[in-house]
Amino acid sequence: MISLTQVTMRYGGTVALDGVDLQVAAGETLGLLGPNGAGKTTALRLLAGMAPPFRGRVSVMGVDPWSEPDRVRTRMGVLPEGTGLFDRLTVGENLALFAGLYGLGRESVQRALDATGAAHLTGRRVGSLSKGERQRVALARAVLHDPELLILDEPTSGLDPAAAASLHQIIRDMQARGRTVVLASHDMAEVEALCDRVAILDRGRLVACDAPAALKARH
Ligand code: ADP
Ligand code: ADP
Repeated sequence: MISLTQVTMRYGGTVALDGVDLQVAAGETLGLLGPNGAGKTTALRLLAGMAPPFRGRVSVMGVDPWSEPDRVRTRMGVLPEGTGLFDRLTVGENLALFAGLYGLGRESVQRALDATGAAHLTGRRVGSLSKGERQRVALARAVLHDPELLILDEPTSGLDPAAAASLHQIIRDMQARGRTVVLASHDMAEVEALCDRVAILDRGRLVACDAPAALKARH
């Protein structure tokens, strides 16, 4: 589903990713774990085709997401850092707007709201929602086109435990439907609870990649 081969990414003189090799199989959930600045968001941006690597190869569903974004974006849903939502619009207006961009109908909006338990929020302005509700709606936006691959950037960052738990349940529902998930987190407990494998990044380098239990056994 995903393969990174010797991927290096730079912002000017800053090396954000340094020779990273990583594979993700279809149906698998991979966690990217690491402190702030480790390179998690950068890795997700490369997968989402939002930037090209400085060196190396990125392949998502057999496609280079930077050079052929249209071939992957229809099959991939992204929950970006922040939410990517418009605060002044209602939840329904936000989703209708994005559905329009994807060329999707109203039924896709309803389906995504139902799948994320956000239907009761339809008439609310996004700016008036709690952080947890907002993340839920951001997830609804990410699954509008029922993508095979979900890219989630710190989906529960800053949420209280109850809100995080309900978001985890939605992610589990997606996993149960066979979706591939790549999620960034700085919380070991979270990746342990949700992920088949965890890739640990430290200052742009991949320092370990294994099942959570195997990683814990080593420390
Ligand atoms: P994480 O998501 O793990 O916090 P990032 O991928 O955001 O890490 O950042 C990795 C490194 O790249 C950090 O040193 C960060 O300061 C740097 N970086 C990220 N985005 C930019 C940018 N747009 N311009 C310059 N440096 C950046
Ligand atoms: P299948 O995997 O055979 O399509 P599912 O039970 O996964 O069956 O889905 C049935 C229908 O419901 C599909 O058409 C799918 O588009 C829709 N659906 C279910 N859950 C979601 C979701 N989380 N996001 C978007 N669409 C969904």
